[in-house]
Amino acid sequence: NNIIVAIDGYSSCGKSTLAKALAKKLHFIYVDSGAMYRAVALYFLRNNIDLKDPEQIAEALKNIHLNFHSRDYQTHITLNDEEVSDEIRLMPVSETVSAVSAIRAVRKEMVKQQQRMGRSKNIVMDGRDIGTAVFPDAPVKIFMTADPKVRAERRFKELAPKNPDITLEDIFENLAHRDYQDTTRAESPLVRAEDAIILDNTDLTPDEQLLFALSRVEP
Ligand code: C5P
Repeated sequence: NNIIVAIDGYSSCGKSTLAKALAKKLHFIYVDSGAMYRAVALYFLRNNIDLKDPEQIAEALKNIHLNFHSRDYQTHITLNDEEVSDEIRLMPVSETVSAVSAIRAVRKEMVKQQQRMGRSKNIVMDGRDIGTAVFPDAPVKIFMTADPKVRAERRFKELAPKNPDITLEDIFENLAHRDYQDTTRAESPLVRAEDAIILDNTDLTPDEQLLFALSRVEP
């Protein structure tokens, strides 16, 4: 039987860094579920989809084809065959993705695709509802958290070199806003699965986090 490692938590608290390191170490496939919601949000933005119009949403979802192609355990995602890996990280998408991901029809479609990916392969998947809604039976579940200031600083360091206009304040506010939306939405809100272990990485190096996670996967 294949193994699923589910990593959930708040925005920008190091989920993908840990998930990638873990996947590499275990030779599992890494799946960034947030990238899928981001790519859908990008499509909605580009096509001016009205988030209150179920018909437009249903039609859009039919026209969206997402594909991952992994290279070096980085996330490479295509939206209808166009590489959008960089664009989905930018502010316009970050600002709308939580509203898009709160739409029931969007979640239903993404969860279906995610479950399909986990059916036959060993995977590490990170997101918000992986241990609760996507793979409630995953044998390993980690719920990550970190000090909000530390999270904003980390994300700022990551984005600032390529995006000179971005400010630390913008990022801090965006993270707070997304956490609020993600934890209060009606459809599978972000909560810790009862059987998830908590990992607060405010004061942990990536190596320390990896060791902690590995101790859970290989007891
Ligand atoms: O993981 P990342 O921060 O890139 O995710 C972007 C957004 O996508 C989150 O703020 C959340 O609104 C949504 N998301 C979700 N469920 C997931 C992964 C991401 O709702 N499993």
